Amino acid sequence: MQAFCDAILAGASGGELAAIPLPGQYRAALVRRDDAGMFEGVDSIAKDPRKSLHVTDVDVPEMAPDEVYVAVMASAINFNTVWTSIFEPLPTFGFLDRLARESRWGARHALPYHVVGSDASGVVVRVGSAVRNWKPGDKVVVHCNYLDDQDPSAHDDSMLAANQRIWGFESNFGGLADLTLVKANQLMPKASHLSWEEAAVNALCNSTAYRMLVSRNGAQMKQGDKVLVWGATGGIGSYAVQHVRNGGGIPVGVVSSPDKAALLHDLGVEAVIDRKAAGYRFWKDEHTQDEAEWRRLGKDIRGLVGDDPDIVFEHPGRQTMGASVFVCKRAGTVVTCAATSGYMIEYDNRHLWMKLKTIKGSHFANYREAWDANQLICDGKVHPPLSAVYPLHEVGEAAYQVHHNLHEGKIGVLCLAPEEGLGIDDPERRAAIGEERFTAFRRHGA
Ligand code: NAP
Repeated sequence: MQAFCDAILAGASGGELAAIPLPGQYRAALVRRDDAGMFEGVDSIAKDPRKSLHVTDVDVPEMAPDEVYVAVMASAINFNTVWTSIFEPLPTFGFLDRLARESRWGARHALPYHVVGSDASGVVVRVGSAVRNWKPGDKVVVHCNYLDDQDPSAHDDSMLAANQRIWGFESNFGGLADLTLVKANQLMPKASHLSWEEAAVNALCNSTAYRMLVSRNGAQMKQGDKVLVWGATGGIGSYAVQHVRNGGGIPVGVVSSPDKAALLHDLGVEAVIDRKAAGYRFWKDEHTQDEAEWRRLGKDIRGLVGDDPDIVFEHPGRQTMGASVFVCKRAGTVVTCAATSGYMIEYDNRHLWMKLKTIKGSHFANYREAWDANQLICDGKVHPPLSAVYPLHEVGEAAYQVHHNLHEGKIGVLCLAPEEGLGIDDPERRAAIGEERFTAFRRHGA
């Protein structure tokens, strides 16, 4: 892959890239099928991605007609890589085996290893015979909605497709590698004012937050809406607060340290709650929640923005869902895409039905939503919350940081890119947007 990297850095044309022979193997971050039981009996938080994630050479898979090979310059850590690496809630090999049963092309995915990663920026180096809109040399980012476009259920909202999958989590050949194999309908243009690592971190979390808040499939936020955002400097939360502000809403950001609170203020979020300083104890014990504590959170929100939130951007799950349903405004929406702290949820249903609230489930984004969210990145309206960058061989440490909530925003991973700061094709545009927009999270992460 070094020849591709050298050519890309030297500004090679698509024709030149297409003439470079593909190697037989490439470097990839993966978990091993034989390791799936390695953390049995270990507490969730003690399961260590540094022990289960390996970086090693694997065979280049055969390309289907609707697929492309992308030389990956950079990738990102998402929480799904944490889940895969700690084999929770299930080892991901079951997903690969199910995909393998669907077709001859699906069968490629069931291997003794799973190459992980659901984000990438890079350059197309080969396209399959059925690919029309992309060609070698195109600079791209990859979104993770992996679906079968011959399935009728994929043709309304493709996230409703019966066999919709997340690339690099429920499929193999993910983005934390020097090469990836993706469907052509996962590609989107890379923003010309961003470096490879800045471009790599956005697609998964930005698209997810966009669907949850902005899309007609989500909470359909409108101007003036007050939006409670849990984890407001985390992966999805740091995009959520940008979408809320762009759309004329008023974010109330919840974080867990004075540093994160200061970062939110720097980003222009005025209403900030430090949940650690406030010391909320929504659960009295493992089985009992405390309505007085929910009420205290509601009072704090009203104290900051004068009203209850029209929308709650929910993802911590068990720890916060009872409070989220309680504080949400009459007829408001709790939109949820995850359950980091536990998926067996409890809330008081009286507060939901008597006040006509809605709980809305959301999952990643369809191509249209991902494309529109990417356009906001390209237009300089949403910025990558990049806080740290690791080389691919330290992917285990990078995943550990996210698993232990030691990070802010997004962690980028350099794959083929030999150093940070490469890939910026339009420095004038970047300067016009303002360099400080791209460094806010790094300044706080330092
Ligand atoms: P992240 O970068 O780790 O951020 C999550 C944030 O949540 C943290 O920064 C933390 O902020 C907050 N948090 C963690 N535990 C909490 C708790 N018990 N109570 C309140 N806040 C808590 O992760 P992410 O990338 O934003 O992802 C968040 C979740 O969404 C993960 O479970 C991920 O798998 C899921 N996800 C789902 C989709 C989908 O398509 N369904 C897409 C992306 C992510 P503070 O400590 O500062 O409060």
